[in-house]
Amino acid sequence: MQNQVFNSDIMYLPGVGPKRADLFKKELEIVTIKDLLYYFPYKHIDRSKFYKIEQLKSEMSHIQVKGRITSLSLQGQNYKQRLIAQFSDETGSIELLWFKGIKWIQQSLNKNKEYILFGKPSAFNNKINIVHPELEDLQQYEQKISSSLQSIYTVPEKLKKNYITTKVIEKMQQNAFIALAGNIPESLPEYLLNSLKLPSLGQSLKQIHFPDNNDLLQKATFRLKFEELFYIQLQLLKQKHIRKDKHNGFIFKIVGDKFNRFFKEKLPFDLTGAQKKVIKEIRKDLGDGKQMNRLLQGDVGSGKTLVALMVMLIAIDNGYQCSLMAPTEILAKQHFNSISKMLDGLDLNINLLTGSSKAKERKLIHSELIENKTNILIGTHALIEDKVKFHNLGLVIIDEQHRFGVAQRAKLWKKNTSPPHVLVMTATPIPRTLAMTLYGDLDVSVIDELPPGRKPIKTTHMFDSKRLRLFSFIKKEVKSGRQVYIVYPLIKESETLDYKDLEDGYESISRAFPSPEYTISVVHGQMKPAEKEKAMQLFVKGQAQIMVSTTVIEVGVDVPNASVMVIESAEKFGLSQLHQLRGRVGRGSEQSWCVLMSSFKLSHEARKRISTMVSTNDGFEIAEVDLKLRGPGDIEGTQQSGIAFDLKIANLAKDNHILEIARNKAIEILRDDSKLESTQNQVLTKQLKLKTMHKVNWGLIS
Ligand code: ADP
Ligand code: MG
Repeated sequence: MQNQVFNSDIMYLPGVGPKRADLFKKELEIVTIKDLLYYFPYKHIDRSKFYKIEQLKSEMSHIQVKGRITSLSLQGQNYKQRLIAQFSDETGSIELLWFKGIKWIQQSLNKNKEYILFGKPSAFNNKINIVHPELEDLQQYEQKISSSLQSIYTVPEKLKKNYITTKVIEKMQQNAFIALAGNIPESLPEYLLNSLKLPSLGQSLKQIHFPDNNDLLQKATFRLKFEELFYIQLQLLKQKHIRKDKHNGFIFKIVGDKFNRFFKEKLPFDLTGAQKKVIKEIRKDLGDGKQMNRLLQGDVGSGKTLVALMVMLIAIDNGYQCSLMAPTEILAKQHFNSISKMLDGLDLNINLLTGSSKAKERKLIHSELIENKTNILIGTHALIEDKVKFHNLGLVIIDEQHRFGVAQRAKLWKKNTSPPHVLVMTATPIPRTLAMTLYGDLDVSVIDELPPGRKPIKTTHMFDSKRLRLFSFIKKEVKSGRQVYIVYPLIKESETLDYKDLEDGYESISRAFPSPEYTISVVHGQMKPAEKEKAMQLFVKGQAQIMVSTTVIEVGVDVPNASVMVIESAEKFGLSQLHQLRGRVGRGSEQSWCVLMSSFKLSHEARKRISTMVSTNDGFEIAEVDLKLRGPGDIEGTQQSGIAFDLKIANLAKDNHILEIARNKAIEILRDDSKLESTQNQVLTKQLKLKTMHKVNWGLIS
């Protein structure tokens, strides 16, 4: 019975009707009373707080002022007609303006009365005015207001045009509560409410819309955020349980000849503590009979490739094939070269398959794969094609995973009748909160230590006007044998935006660094793979001292002798991209530099990005700033991930501690009742069914 009202159409609420209901549906996806109650205010105004007119500033949000109307007049003709009033208190006077509903407002306002004005100040001709304020009779107001905190709702333009204000929405909420008469079905189990001392759903919804006081509002907010995050975690973790139960993993029991020989004879340096720790975590997965799905996070240059390599050797020692997939040809080629070199003499067959592999070569690779002659297949998307068939693929490693679309990964996953173990590697540090949400169903390993002997990269910010100083610095570095990257944001000049163009830049650089004294190599996205490769090799082999490029070199490229990274128009890059680019240097034992070039005109956010880069080298710290600046929806990796970030109240940038609690509770609950079958958990199963939060089946992906 109670659910009936909760799930009934808002159309039947007083003052709504079919036309408004339709607007709410189209603009806000609000259909039922429940939807309406979950349309939360974006803030609450303290209605016990009043401002004086002299205190008003245009950047303020909604405010309240007590005062009187001192003049009221219609101006303009026909559709341009406006109603203008002067509103005054003892400290001054402001102009009020109405463009709509003018006649009615004019009649209802009274010069002798005292009013409460409610609205958002703006500036016009250096004076403060308020457009379409709400005025309420002071006496009536004082009788009516019970709570001093008033909800303010976001009102889309189309609703505004139809006279729906935040007040109207508030009124609808009020009517919804009247219609429900206290019957709001609880959506969390009793024991959770008790153990976390959470208010009921009914109380929480009431308090978020009509808070009695700040304390109750905070408690309600906490409960609603918790619930939102908790169900995401519960869903992700439940999927993980199901997957683990369903799929047996190949058991890699032995650490054999190849691994041991590599370790003893080939490893050119000691593993870092973090590398050892991570390899141990992975080995545990590979031995426990469950299919591994692990995310390996490690800052640029932390040595993930070596980890990948050693894990592949374990698979090979146990009689399985492996594949390593990289997002670009440059990177695949580089992995192929460095891995072939490191494994030289171990009698392994390693193949490279990319988009530019010739037909004949391809055929050979295909047949070697199926005949089990290939141990390791390295490549790009070309690996995913249906034609590529393995004899017994035991392990898939995906490098720089955020570059791959969801569907592509799913395809790789299905290459065997029995799914291979999957290790996903990323150098884009993801804040913990995001990782828990994006990869909540994966196990996560982190390499949080760089190989020894690295000098931290020094980062400076330089305005374009100091270009000559930059050039002489580059000359000095080149003279002492180092190499330099210069990166541009765009390839073709954009007419509307004042971007530094690669071609322009190349011209001025080749003037400042003339041949034959200097050799410059150029790499950009529109070159043919073979050309690109040639230009890359010129730089890799040290024949070119300067590489001018677009962001194609962003991922993974490893030239330890390069010591300077110049980023042109740095203000145009996002933080994670800047950090990735900077990671191309600082790979050798020399001091490295990152120079961020920019124009004088910098937005507040660009300034913050640049100053963050200058002040820290820590990828996780940078990721946290990035998350705060851009919000979770814009962080690289989240868009491609396909997970809809339609959180209604929780904020992944701010609510990490609530997320932490939610995740731990979900883990605890699933540990005791992994299928959520107990009576007390029925409500959880029911809610999970109701919440179709994730459109993507992560169980299939990685
Ligand atoms: P990323 O994590 O960015 O993929 P790489 O695997 O490319 O990093 O490693 C960066 C560089 O560090 C490579 O030149 C690699 O040979 C080197 N390296 C990796 N592990 C170690 C180690 N334990 N000690 C010293 N150098 C290492
Ligand atoms: Mg790498």
